[in-house]
Amino acid sequence: MPLIEFSNKGLYCPQGNFYIDPWKPVDFAVISHGHSDHARWGSKKYLCHHDTKPILQLRLGENEYHSVGWNEPVFMNGVSISLFPAGHIIGSAQVRIEYKGEVWVFTGDYKTEDDGISTAYEPVKCNTFITESTFGLPIYKWKPQDEIFEEMKNWIYTNKSNGKSSIFIAYSLGKAQRILKPLAETGFPIYAHGAVYNMHTTLQSAGWALPDVKRITTETTKEELKECIVIAPSSAEGSPWMKRFSPYATGICSGWMQVRGNVRRKNADAGFALSDHCDWEGLLTAVKATGAEKVYATHGFQSTFSKYLNELGIEAGEVKTEYGNEEQSENENVNSEVVNSEL
Ligand SMILES: [Zn+2]
Ligand SMILES: [Zn+2]
Repeated sequence: MPLIEFSNKGLYCPQGNFYIDPWKPVDFAVISHGHSDHARWGSKKYLCHHDTKPILQLRLGENEYHSVGWNEPVFMNGVSISLFPAGHIIGSAQVRIEYKGEVWVFTGDYKTEDDGISTAYEPVKCNTFITESTFGLPIYKWKPQDEIFEEMKNWIYTNKSNGKSSIFIAYSLGKAQRILKPLAETGFPIYAHGAVYNMHTTLQSAGWALPDVKRITTETTKEELKECIVIAPSSAEGSPWMKRFSPYATGICSGWMQVRGNVRRKNADAGFALSDHCDWEGLLTAVKATGAEKVYATHGFQSTFSKYLNELGIEAGEVKTEYGNEEQSENENVNSEVVNSEL
């Protein structure tokens, strides 16, 4: 019996009788992080890191949550479950499962670059490694984040000199927090879309020291919004909500922006290839660091990535999951937000 089975509800540990990031309701769900494709409704009990708990409370409402710190094992029928930093977003964890000396690790989403907010990714030794492969193609090679932050700031100054506001399109959980510090360094006020603002205040009340952002209300005047900085989720793009910032330029913050055509396709003025996932090299480094004998690649370019690992002599297979719709899931949340906060 394998320690983890790939079931139609999600990753299942038969010995411990629990699921990891299930996409259907289950009795006991271990959650890697707060993105909506990994943390879903309807389960009876949830286990997550302390930093993920307030995010789940905001997104899933009140449930039975058990939270733990890093490397604090919980036992289920003799199986040890512990969480290790994944470096993806605040609270994001790799899930380590051990039974009778055999160790499996599921990464959830992760990145190897330390973003200074999410606890930095930590390699974990294991026998079997289940890794995401969102950007598992050799064309994905990220620039150091400081270089991208400089480009973002220069773009703001250019927009300002053209009398335009700068609208950054970023996930409300993860990317929005990550770009705040460099944006705040410009000294200009930062306005947030309701979805970004709600997450922001949740994290602030959980104790995260984030730069201040302003919420746009009915009282906010056109004059105040002149040449301002805005952080908004992707569904706000091209919506009537954006009109109040006119004239403006939009810049999308996403790993997908590494491919130039995507900037054009999205009708954006700029693309910043800032990602909260590993690039190709990051994935390879991570796989090697685990020393795993067997690797499973999930959501992303799992076929290309697992084939390449096999060529390297690392036994690898691909697994189909229902993860990888971060953006789509966020759009669903955000559409209701746009309706609710139509000002
Ligand atoms: Zn994620
Ligand atoms: Zn994912």
